[in-house]
Amino acid sequence: MASKDDRISLTLKCTECGEENYLTSKNKKKHADRLELKKYCPRCKKVTLHREKKK
Ligand SMILES: [Zn+2]
Repeated sequence: MASKDDRISLTLKCTECGEENYLTSKNKKKHADRLELKKYCPRCKKVTLHREKKK
């Protein structure tokens, strides 16, 4: 069973304008790589690439 410490919270930040739009969490052991997701950015008013920023 995975311990609670394996989960980290992070912010998903728009790579185009730098706005921090989404809060999420991941298991750092299962997902060691930096997350990159296509998400809607309200500031850009379009779907952009969002990259994780560790808190
Ligand atoms: Zn943006």
